[in-house]
Amino acid sequence: MSEACDVAVIGGGAIGTAIAFHLTRLGAGRVTLFEREQIAGGTTAQSSGLLRAHYSVPENMAMARASLAMFEDFAGLIEDGEASAGLVRCGYLIVAPPGERSRAVREAIGRQRALGIEASLVDAAAARALHPWLYLDDVDAIGYEPGAGFADPNLVASWFARGARRRGARIRPGVAVTGLLRSGSRVCGLRTAEGDVGAGVVIAAMNVWSGALARWAGVELPMTITRHDLASFETGEPYTTRFPMVKDLASAGLIYTRSTSGSQILVGTGDEGIEVSAPEGYDADISLDWIAEQGAALAHRMPKFAEGRFVTSWSGLYDTTPDWNPVLGPVPGLDGLLVAFGLSGHGFKLSPMIGRLLAQAALGLPTDLPLAPYRFSRFAENAPLRGSYGAGAVS
Ligand SMILES: Cc1cc2nc3c(=O)[nH]c(=O)nc-3n(C[C@H](O)[C@H](O)[C@H](O)COP(=O)(O)OP(=O)(O)OC[C@H]3O[C@@H](n4cnc5c(N)ncnc54)[C@H](O)[C@@H]3O)c2cc1C
Repeated sequence: MSEACDVAVIGGGAIGTAIAFHLTRLGAGRVTLFEREQIAGGTTAQSSGLLRAHYSVPENMAMARASLAMFEDFAGLIEDGEASAGLVRCGYLIVAPPGERSRAVREAIGRQRALGIEASLVDAAAARALHPWLYLDDVDAIGYEPGAGFADPNLVASWFARGARRRGARIRPGVAVTGLLRSGSRVCGLRTAEGDVGAGVVIAAMNVWSGALARWAGVELPMTITRHDLASFETGEPYTTRFPMVKDLASAGLIYTRSTSGSQILVGTGDEGIEVSAPEGYDADISLDWIAEQGAALAHRMPKFAEGRFVTSWSGLYDTTPDWNPVLGPVPGLDGLLVAFGLSGHGFKLSPMIGRLLAQAALGLPTDLPLAPYRFSRFAENAPLRGSYGAGAVS
C-alpha cells in the first residue's frame, strides 16, 4: 500500500472538487482527490454554466437555491477574497406555450415562491422591459427569476480544488484510478496508476466515465451518455449580459440562451440529445441542419437574429439517468463507497451543495437536505424523481 487516506475522491470536475473542498471544511482528516487528467478538464469544461433555481422537482429547487447562495458568496465560502465563481446575475426568463408546459411553469413558480425563492410570473410587457428583443405573442406563461445567472465552471472547480488543497487535501491531477480495493462487501481503497491507496471511504464523481466504476464494483449503472450540441450566433448589436437568460419551452429543441464572449448569444437545447456508446472517440460532427434549426428557433424568439450570423458550434456529454436527475449516495450492497453521477446536464448549478451533502454523508453527519430522493435504488424501486417538464435538462 503506497499511502492511505481517510476519504478518497475520484474525479476533479465541479462535483469532485466541491466534495473534496467540503470534506476539508468539515474536518474529514486526510482527503485525497485523484484526477486522471487535469482539474476541470472533463465535462465541466464543456458546461454552459447556467445557474437557476427554476426546477419542477422540488428537491432540485431546494438544492439549487442552497447552491446559488454559495455561488453568491463564493469568496466567503472559499475564505479567500480573490476567489471568484465568475458569477453574472443576469436573471432567467422561462417562456411556455399554452398547455402542459404553461401549467408546469406556473406550478414551478408557485413552488419557488413557497420556498422563499424570488421568482414570479410576469406578463409580456414586463418581460419585454427586461429583454426588449423578445417576441412573445405565442407564449402563455412567462416566469422570471431575477437572482439566476451564470458562472464560470472552470474557475469554480479550480477554486474548490485550491480551497481544498489549502485546507490540507492532496489534489493529484494526472493520476488515474484503475480499480477499487475491497474486503468482502467493503470498499477499502483504490488502485491507481501510481499504486494502491487505502481509504476509509471512497467517493466517485466520474461523470460520463462512471462505466469504469460500474465494472470495478460489479454493478449496473442507471446511466447513458448523451451528446448535446451548442452554437453561438451574433447580430449587428452586441448581445450582452444586460439580457436575461431565456428558456424557450415553445421551441422544438427547448432551447436556452445566454450572452457569451461579450457580444454573442449561446444557444443550447434541452432535449434528450444523442446517445453515444463511450465518452471517448464519439462522433462530434454537428450537422448544418441542427445549426439552421436552432438559428431559426432563435430568430423566432428574438427576431433581431433573423439577420444574425452563426459563429461557432461545439458539443459536450451528459451522464444521463432515466429520470434526468442525479444519483447521490451509497451503492446498494457495497459499504464504504459513495457516488455522484447522472448529473444529466444540470450538475454545475448543484455542485456546491452536492459537494456539501456528499461530504456530510461520507462523514456520517446529518445531511442539510435529504439524499434519499436521489438514491441509487430508486430506478429498481420504480420510484424515479420525475419532474413535470419530461426528459431533458430542465428537470
Ligand atoms: C454542453 C454542456 C452544457 C451544460 N450546461 C450546464 C448548465 O448550463 N448548467 C448546469 O448546471 N450544468 C450544465 N451542464 C452540466 C454540468 O456541467 C455537469 O453536470 C458538471 O460539470 C459535471 O461535473 P462532474 O464533476 O460530475 O463531471 P466532470 O467535469 O466530467 O468530472 C469528472 C472527472 O472525473 C475524471 N475521471 C474519470 N475517470 C477517472 C479515473 N478513472 N481516475 C481519475 N479521474 C477520473 C475525469 O477526467 C473528469 O475530470 C452542462 C454540461 C454540458 C456537457
